[in-house]
Amino acid sequence: MTQNSKPVLRFAPSPTGFLHIGGARTALFNWLYAKHTGGTFLLRIEDTDRERSTPEAVDAILKGMAWLGLNWDGQTVYQFARAGRHRAIAEQLLAEGKAYRCYATPEELDEMRAKQRAEGKPTRYDGRWRDRDPASAPPGAPFVIRLRSTDEGETVVHDKVMGDVRFANDQLDDMILLRSDGTPTYMLAVVVDDHDMGVTHVIRGADHLNNAARQLQIIHALGWPVPVYAHVPLIHGPDGAKLSKRHGALAVEAYRDMGYLPETMRNYLLRLGWSHGDDEIISTEQAIAWFNLENIGRSPARFDFKKLDNLNGHYLRTMDDAALTETLAQHLTHASPPIVLNSKVRARITAAMPGLKERAKTLIELAQSAGYLYTDGPRTLDDAAAKVLSPEARAALGAMLQALEQTDWSAPALEAATRNFAEGRGIKLGQAAQPLRAALTGHTTSPPVFGVLETLGREESINRIRAYAE
Ligand code: GLU
Repeated sequence: MTQNSKPVLRFAPSPTGFLHIGGARTALFNWLYAKHTGGTFLLRIEDTDRERSTPEAVDAILKGMAWLGLNWDGQTVYQFARAGRHRAIAEQLLAEGKAYRCYATPEELDEMRAKQRAEGKPTRYDGRWRDRDPASAPPGAPFVIRLRSTDEGETVVHDKVMGDVRFANDQLDDMILLRSDGTPTYMLAVVVDDHDMGVTHVIRGADHLNNAARQLQIIHALGWPVPVYAHVPLIHGPDGAKLSKRHGALAVEAYRDMGYLPETMRNYLLRLGWSHGDDEIISTEQAIAWFNLENIGRSPARFDFKKLDNLNGHYLRTMDDAALTETLAQHLTHASPPIVLNSKVRARITAAMPGLKERAKTLIELAQSAGYLYTDGPRTLDDAAAKVLSPEARAALGAMLQALEQTDWSAPALEAATRNFAEGRGIKLGQAAQPLRAALTGHTTSPPVFGVLETLGREESINRIRAYAE
């Protein structure tokens, strides 16, 4: 235990795959609770499963955490490196008589389970070596170390979300702590690591609730303090079914690539299972101020891309223009092929940003609508823009070009000139503006066209219009 009386939290992912949305939410809740209480947030990589743990997965987890802005305190703990300590605790329990050696062979245990099944009983270790003299085992025979757990009474998980969850002890068999090859089991490793790291609060997915009962048995045997548990219901799809890839059960990086902001993800993940009245928009600062265990919901939250989009639109709109330009530039470096924006282009994107960000829900949409600013020169027309630029429209553009060339290059003056031109020809303003937009951007939708002219500047605008004017 540390001397610190403040809460100590941890996120303990198994590096067997990417950091998915459920894991990210678990990390966020622990991080928020640590921030809220002035406590500590630790990261432990549970890499004891050597077959399934990969360095790529560790990397993906660390990167995902960094992107979400979930910084942790101190060094990352790698569970496998602590196997010696886990073993020592198993041996301590053995010496104290709280654990025992079990020499049952795999064949013997198979037979035991087959018999239990045949009798319609649950398959559990029957305690055959519990009170047997280890000297009766064949010399040098392999053994596992099992916890000597009581059959009487119950183990109660006092859970902040689920309430008191009771497990009858006669339903929990004597679990293995140390395998015959001397490697610790997951249950033992988690308990020892949480204790040694001084963890006071365990917030994790409800799929670990049964494990909590198991872990409590070990904690009780060791006489260690019990952490506060909060098991959070799993995330479901919008239809209430288990979350699938289609629903959003994706790597955190996939959300980055889909153009969501880390701020959005923090807000969205927070609302997936935690609430503060009817508030939907909750900044990270507010979340830190408000987060508690009491308001974690008891029923599974539903993942909803539409809500995520709306939230992202909000964070895009409220972001500072220059900062958003930098974020967009960053996003474009992940495009294939990557797009690199020079400082001139960045300046013009920042200038156009108030109009651009108004209509975007994701960075992908923003990237598309800002596309006309990335390079100089005439545009390639999309189908709709090509349709707009009919022979008549091209002729009108030629006439308009003459009028614009005489004009002071500001959005209001350019609008007045275009209006004048339209009136002179007896056409609507839109009929004059649409060919302009098509020539300037290559598309038929864009921020207000006079702002586009102003942002591009006189020379670049005229160059683009001239390419399609007759
Ligand atoms: N390593 C476990 C997982 O990734 C979590 C263990 C825990 O939080 O106690 O699901």
